[in-house]
Amino acid sequence: MTINTITKNYKTQFKGVLSVTVRALLDLLYPPRCPFCNRLLTPYDAGKINFMVAGSNVSGLERLLCRRCAEELSWIESSCPYCAFPLEEGKYHRCNGRKFSFQECCALGCYRGGIQETLHRFKYHGRKSLAEPLGKLLYKKIALEPWISLVEFIVPIPLSRQRLLQRGYNQASLLARVLGRELGLPVMEILERVKDTESQTGLNKSQRKENLRGAFRCRQEVPEGGHVLLVDDVFTSGATAHEASRALKEAGAGRVSVAVLAR
Ligand SMILES: [Zn+2]
Ligand SMILES: [Zn+2]
Repeated sequence: MTINTITKNYKTQFKGVLSVTVRALLDLLYPPRCPFCNRLLTPYDAGKINFMVAGSNVSGLERLLCRRCAEELSWIESSCPYCAFPLEEGKYHRCNGRKFSFQECCALGCYRGGIQETLHRFKYHGRKSLAEPLGKLLYKKIALEPWISLVEFIVPIPLSRQRLLQRGYNQASLLARVLGRELGLPVMEILERVKDTESQTGLNKSQRKENLRGAFRCRQEVPEGGHVLLVDDVFTSGATAHEASRALKEAGAGRVSVAVLAR
């Protein structure tokens, strides 16, 4: 072993010890809390969720949520592969007769109860820091999808310029960055909203669809035939993801998969 390798090994070990120490110190100053109920997390409080994707359960959720929220919140165990509608395993869903421009969708949980409240804090009450635990949880779920290894880059659903100025951040971009880091994939903010269509309250399903038509444009060409992971916080009727995916395909994308926190 040369002096160089010894120094290198020592440095790597030192870095490892240092990062563990820094983490322990940070935990002491800012103890990790459950993002859903805000209770302090202990090492004995590791939550487990059975995401029945490809028949596998997921581990490594320590420090991401508490045992109670893991057991009680509305996680989606198995769902329609096209629109992520929660389904019993082996059941078939018609997606309300819709044909989407994206290939598949994966959702972490149902948009109600504790999950809905947490998403509200994340989106409307400035709790940007929730992107980290929520993004990591979403990563744990999409990592089980059979198509995940095919994805080449990540694109978040954009906000309109006006909404971005009001809120100061785009929650989908923050999630996309966490996913990009965990998956080791580039995040490309190439979509833009050409119509301000975020507030669709008071519109029925077909009005929403009509209102969203042509709402997105791609700022640049997408590598021909590329596989994109489109990221958003919530999937309601699927109209937003459908329109965004259409814009990506017009710009050259070959396949679009969707990942959302709630459905
Ligand atoms: Zn909790
Ligand atoms: Zn469906």
